[in-house]
Amino acid sequence: MNIVVQKFGGTSVRNLECQRQVMQKVLRPYREGNKVIVVLSAMSGETNRLLALAREWSDNPDPAEADSLVSTGEQISCALFAMLLKQQGIACRSVLGFQAPIKTDCAYGKARIVDIDESRIKAMLDEYDILVMAGFQGCDNSQRITTLGRGGSDTSAVALAAAIRADICEIYTDVPGVFTTDPNMCTDARKLDSITYDEMLEMASMGAKVLQIRSVEFAKKYNVTVHVRSTFSDEPGTVVTKEDPTMEAALVSGIAYDKDQARITLINLADKPGVSAQIFTPLAEQRILVDMIVQNPSKNGKTDMTFTVPRADVDQTLKTLDSLRYEIGFEAVDSNLNVSKVSIIGVGMRNHSGVASRAFRALADENINILMISTSEIKITCLIDDKYTELAVRTLHKAFELENGPLGTA
Ligand code: ADP
Ligand code: ASP
Ligand code: MG
Repeated sequence: MNIVVQKFGGTSVRNLECQRQVMQKVLRPYREGNKVIVVLSAMSGETNRLLALAREWSDNPDPAEADSLVSTGEQISCALFAMLLKQQGIACRSVLGFQAPIKTDCAYGKARIVDIDESRIKAMLDEYDILVMAGFQGCDNSQRITTLGRGGSDTSAVALAAAIRADICEIYTDVPGVFTTDPNMCTDARKLDSITYDEMLEMASMGAKVLQIRSVEFAKKYNVTVHVRSTFSDEPGTVVTKEDPTMEAALVSGIAYDKDQARITLINLADKPGVSAQIFTPLAEQRILVDMIVQNPSKNGKTDMTFTVPRADVDQTLKTLDSLRYEIGFEAVDSNLNVSKVSIIGVGMRNHSGVASRAFRALADENINILMISTSEIKITCLIDDKYTELAVRTLHKAFELENGPLGTA
């Protein structure tokens, strides 16, 4: 049996009219004789609304109850969409995370999928032609509902495609594909026909929310080709796939930004072996994503250590550091929430020099101060004052002439 996996995001399912357009996309593979797994997000704005309710009810919402609450957004869109299909006489049903089941660990709010029972899904597909499956949610070993983190429906879709060994997973969204940068921020952004898993991983981890990073990790691990495209047109979108030697390796393929960052500095930290582990182990245990770590050369056995964390994790990070203050030995902690990360990504950077200097020159010409820099073999990231994010993105996009097609090849 041929199975097609299609995922539709929040704006695609936001009302009846949009869901009718979604139905047209779903009916195409169905009419060609395929079984279809449709993964849906909550209607746009719904997850935010539910999270706000949780915060209104409690200063510190219980994480398991918060997941039980926010997962209802996907339940609503799936039930409604299944009604539309049933009205067409199609054999289909809605399937929630615990019904599939999508088994996860118990890290409420940022759970990871650990297992999907392929045989159970295939059994449901024997009975139904279309399964309308809730994205973003799963259940843990104690049968409690979990959610996979913001944007998690992408991961649900790719993980399902991997579990049933579908060749392709289509991710339908409100833009026509993956662009050289966010098309809603830079009008010169250009759609890419294809992008490698590694580049997409960097783009996603550096803030391009068009795909959740975990979905790209799954796609790469299980070799699932992901096709990102628009719900509202028939144009082909962007294919996310493995690097192929015939592919043009663009020097720079895109610019990503992340405004959801904060900078933390530990002042006058004791410079002795084991200190970094003492700081970062408890943060890792709480699944706080630390990035851009910089330690200054020490003076008189003391140093400053600076790193970035997601803004949502600042309070927890500061609380943790405070509790370790005497054990670790530092004078003070300073935090700055008005920062953002701007990153330049391209596999061609591996064997080229000059990318960093070109980026720094372009930012300098616009008087944008760089607070921190970090690099990998295919990425350069600058931390800047967040009020310059848009200017920095446009400046770098222009500096690497991304509107004109791939610049240089490796
Ligand atoms: P969905 O609700 O369909 O999951 P998201 O809002 O999560 O959609 O992701 C799509 C959005 O990602 C776009 O509207 C766009 O603003 C943003 N985005 C950021 N960077 C990029 C990029 N490089 N290419 C395309 N979209 C991007
Ligand atoms: N509804 C969830 C969110 O808004 C998951 C998703 O849309 O992918 O983050
Ligand atoms: Mg999304």
